[in-house]
Amino acid sequence: MAGEFEFIEWLRSQQRASAFVPVPAGDDLAVLRWDGRHLLLVGADQVLDGAHFDAAVHTPRQIGRKVMNRNLSDCAAMACLPAAAVATVALPRGLGVNYARELYLGLREAADPFDCPIVGGDTGSWDGKLAFSVTILGRSAGVTPIRRCGAKPGDGVYVTGPLGGSILGRHMTFEPRVMLARELAQAGGITAMIDLSDGLSRDLRHICRESGVGAVIDARAVPVHDDARHVAMEEGVEVADRQQRALDHAMNDGEDYELLFTGKPAATQPGIVRVGSIVEEQGLWLDDNGRRPLQARGWEHAI
Ligand SMILES: [Mg+2]
Repeated sequence: MAGEFEFIEWLRSQQRASAFVPVPAGDDLAVLRWDGRHLLLVGADQVLDGAHFDAAVHTPRQIGRKVMNRNLSDCAAMACLPAAAVATVALPRGLGVNYARELYLGLREAADPFDCPIVGGDTGSWDGKLAFSVTILGRSAGVTPIRRCGAKPGDGVYVTGPLGGSILGRHMTFEPRVMLARELAQAGGITAMIDLSDGLSRDLRHICRESGVGAVIDARAVPVHDDARHVAMEEGVEVADRQQRALDHAMNDGEDYELLFTGKPAATQPGIVRVGSIVEEQGLWLDDNGRRPLQARGWEHAI
């Protein structure tokens, strides 16, 4: 990238002070201070042009926000606090320094509310499309990480908001449920949790598989987002079938980034809805005036 040196200088000037980062940027690796009482949680998540966003449509600011928010949402899934992040971008040749700056500022817009400094990374140019990856470090900070494997028969199944139709725009603009996850976990009674990236049917299957249990979803309880109804309408479905189609979107669309959790939560909040129950027999069922097996049809991330 032309002006790479200036870009790196600019990045250094952007670095925020943080209690975790005792050494300013400029070395081969970032240096973090870590309190030994905290577990370190690490994950990585990337977004790819044509799969998770469309560079012809979405701004670099939006793209930066999305990749950071996906990582923050994984922190929420495990009820940890984001501590720091590292970002790697493969830029299509010719996009220029301003575009790279906007990508970075998108990361910052998402990370700053959580005091999550971006402590390092790498920028390269190539003849391919834009690929943007973030590695996130989280700290347990007094809350035992919630895993996918703890669901038990008799637990409720809950989601933290309405689902479906994120393709209309929410997949770029969602808010990661980090603080809500911490509050739920601190209150107690949560046995398993995941963030809804692949769709309710598929993500619930992940929890059931890891926990060795099954689940029954109550079709009437699933909160259907207005976007799901709009998508059903745009698809030209007959009026009589629209409600069913909207429910299909709520069950199967990806990238809602709400939380899906199981248990007997000690505290609840507005917007949290019980959508079903964990059962002993392995499998997934939809209760819609009678039980029928539920196919996991979560969408592959398609934009
Ligand atoms: Mg996840």
